[in-house]
Amino acid sequence: MEREYVDAVIVGGGPAGIAAAMTLAKAGKEVVLIERGDFPGSKNVFGGAIYAQPTAEIFPEFWKDAPVERCNTEHRYALLGENDGTVIGYRNEEHLKEGHYNSFSELRPKWDRWCAEQAEAAGAYIVPETLVTELIQEDGKFIGVKTEEEEFYARVTIVAEGVNSVLTKKAGLHKEWESENVALGVKEVIKLPEKVIQDRFNLTDDSGVIYTIIGGPMKGSVGLGYIYTNKDSVVVGLGISLQDLQRNQMKPYEVLNLLKEHPIIKPLIKDGELLEYSAHLIPEGGYKAMPKLYENGLIIAGDAAMLVNNVHWEGTNLAMMSGKYAAETAIEALEKEDYSENMLSLYRKKLENSFVLKDLKSYKNVMGFIEKNSSAVMDFYPSKINEFFDNFITVDSIPKAQKYKNFISDIMKQRPIPKIILDFIKFAKLGGGILLK
Ligand SMILES: Cc1cc2nc3c(=O)[nH]c(=O)nc-3n(C[C@H](O)[C@H](O)[C@H](O)COP(=O)(O)OP(=O)(O)OC[C@H]3O[C@@H](n4cnc5c(N)ncnc54)[C@H](O)[C@@H]3O)c2cc1C
Repeated sequence: MEREYVDAVIVGGGPAGIAAAMTLAKAGKEVVLIERGDFPGSKNVFGGAIYAQPTAEIFPEFWKDAPVERCNTEHRYALLGENDGTVIGYRNEEHLKEGHYNSFSELRPKWDRWCAEQAEAAGAYIVPETLVTELIQEDGKFIGVKTEEEEFYARVTIVAEGVNSVLTKKAGLHKEWESENVALGVKEVIKLPEKVIQDRFNLTDDSGVIYTIIGGPMKGSVGLGYIYTNKDSVVVGLGISLQDLQRNQMKPYEVLNLLKEHPIIKPLIKDGELLEYSAHLIPEGGYKAMPKLYENGLIIAGDAAMLVNNVHWEGTNLAMMSGKYAAETAIEALEKEDYSENMLSLYRKKLENSFVLKDLKSYKNVMGFIEKNSSAVMDFYPSKINEFFDNFITVDSIPKAQKYKNFISDIMKQRPIPKIILDFIKFAKLGGGILLK
């Protein structure tokens, strides 16, 4: 029987896969997207915020119809000690105005489903509840995918299967991720009345806040906590490097429970009802750990390609842009009827010319730096900031000059001056590395 080829088959209905499907469908190409979940988004986990500008490149003015929760106008950074903490924040109500939106909180099952519906309306054919079991290879080329029931042949195959990357590993395109290149994220969605969220977080009807949390029960580990506000729920979670979880014998849900009990966090979620608990891997190896991004007939996008900037909690935007570039490359390949590795290398060039690989390249040493200096970056300095503020605000009979001297001499007892100078040189070099890339 003669094989029927579609223009493109896409594995995975997350942000990368859907952006690719939308771009191909809008260009009039025949595209099939296969998703193992009951519907795109049903299995997907994230914090989270989606970012307005890159998302609007795929779904213009999405905020008018999409199921967004709150428009984030504030970002707070909480440096937690054992029982204390310093919280600093930046707020700008301009971000509530169209044209100035920065990010929106949203719930992935609703959001991914809405995005998939837009792709479907543009002409993409979405196949849910179907697991792709294998990539089909023939004569050194990738020519489609096998599911449990059938085979789909395609001129270009786009793999957007997320971080687990079962298919690309099985096809020998890369090895198992190293544990230092993956973090484990756990999170809870906690229901609270809308009015309570607004009062507790000092929000208006539509505005939202994001917390990035350092220290506390994660002290010394390479990991960050977070809080996102939805309309009538709050998300509390954290991501810790797998290597540190193994090394420090920590169980992520125990760390999350401790975080929820911390005096800075506890009042924010008091009397909330647990709606959902989930865990998911986060790729964090960045530029140095990326697999090869294309082969004959094949392109890898999103988390499957390690495209996450986890210092900024950016993943969906990189996934969507990589899906878009994968689709644009496929469109050019279809026009030239050339699906070779050489032709598809255009995908990498598009990523290199965009913020996606420019950012990952400039941040390529950040994770290594944090890993090597985790006790200083994630524990020592944050705890000193808390101690400083404790001294600064405490009113007692000790003269101020004496307090500052005690504070400085305590620091020097715990970390000798040459080490502190070295830390600052390393910080400066890292900053220089980011700026000069
Ligand atoms: C806890 C956590 C918090 C995060 N917070 C944020 C945030 O606030 N902002 C942000 O921008 N990013 C955040 N991220 C990162 C972001 O979620 C990811 O970068 C993004 O979802 C990657 O999109 P993707 O399409 O590549 O993969 P995914 O979203 O993982 O989608 C992959 C899809 O492929 C499907 N699939 C997999 N294998 C198969 C198969 N064999 N057959 C068929 N279907 C398959 C899956 O079911 C899934 O739908 C967070 C991640 C985590 C884990």
